[in-house]
Amino acid sequence: MTLAKGDVVRVQNAYSKEYRGQVQVNFGFRTVVAKEAADALPEYKPGTGAPYMGKPTPVRVVDLREGASNVQVTARILSVERREVEVDGTPKAVFSGVLADETGKTQFSAWKDFGLADGEVIRIDGAYVKTWRGIPQISFDERATITRLKPDLLPPLDVLSASPRMWIEDLAERGGAADVTVRGILIDLREGSGLVYRCPECRRVLRKGVCRLHGEVKGEPDLRVKAVLDDGSGALTAVFDRELTEALLDKTLDACIEAARNAMSTDVVRDELADVLVAQPIEVRGDVTSDDYGLMMIVASAKMLKVDVQTEAREMLEGLEGSA
Ligand SMILES: [Zn+2]
Repeated sequence: MTLAKGDVVRVQNAYSKEYRGQVQVNFGFRTVVAKEAADALPEYKPGTGAPYMGKPTPVRVVDLREGASNVQVTARILSVERREVEVDGTPKAVFSGVLADETGKTQFSAWKDFGLADGEVIRIDGAYVKTWRGIPQISFDERATITRLKPDLLPPLDVLSASPRMWIEDLAERGGAADVTVRGILIDLREGSGLVYRCPECRRVLRKGVCRLHGEVKGEPDLRVKAVLDDGSGALTAVFDRELTEALLDKTLDACIEAARNAMSTDVVRDELADVLVAQPIEVRGDVTSDDYGLMMIVASAKMLKVDVQTEAREMLEGLEGSA
């Protein structure tokens, strides 16, 4: 039987487990699943509807996971602003921004005016978690209660605003995160790195002068790097824009175009990037998203690390021998 989003099913002989404070229903080999009429249940709308049952579960920011509801979060508001959005055709005010505790930062959306202000420390009881491209985000509405706490309960704003260092393995388990720092080694450049030409209409990278949507167009030159970054726990694709690529290469876009013209191939730019980047330790900071192809970081800032990799490896081996 294939199941689709929106199906109504009757599940017999399932069992439940608790995972990170959330109840999970698990299907085993004795479980029987049967389809029911589509109108047997009202349409499910996440984040709206019935009040929560029971006490909220305290969750740290780093442990927020998609689908969790009725959670309790204690955090400092790093920023908040009012926006107008349309929900089912009617304009609605949403108060969104970034909040943080000692474990990390997250975007939030408040669907009611709680009078939130930058810098204050609050406890939210009755929030729920949604994701945007894999990044868990917190939402709360009129079902939630906000309690103002002492400002010194959490570290100050500048400390919480820092980008936490994370392992790729943990990012993969979370699905993504906003503004994190990863250290690793660039092990390979992906296709489409170096000097590329973009469609003037949609900014897609052209292949042999052709845009997937707009056909043959006069491309606009750009520089970018898509590289595989490995930190020993996992790998992600790191995407560097023109500005970062110019800085890493210590060369302008114009200089790259000139070099490619002289060599009659854009490969020279790619080769030079590979020389500079591949097998080098680097620290990158940015948002990490995920999709079917895995994790991707849009790099906001980067620095090559002057780490002596051989020394680090030797120290690690000595450490291992010492503990054996
Ligand atoms: Zn196009």
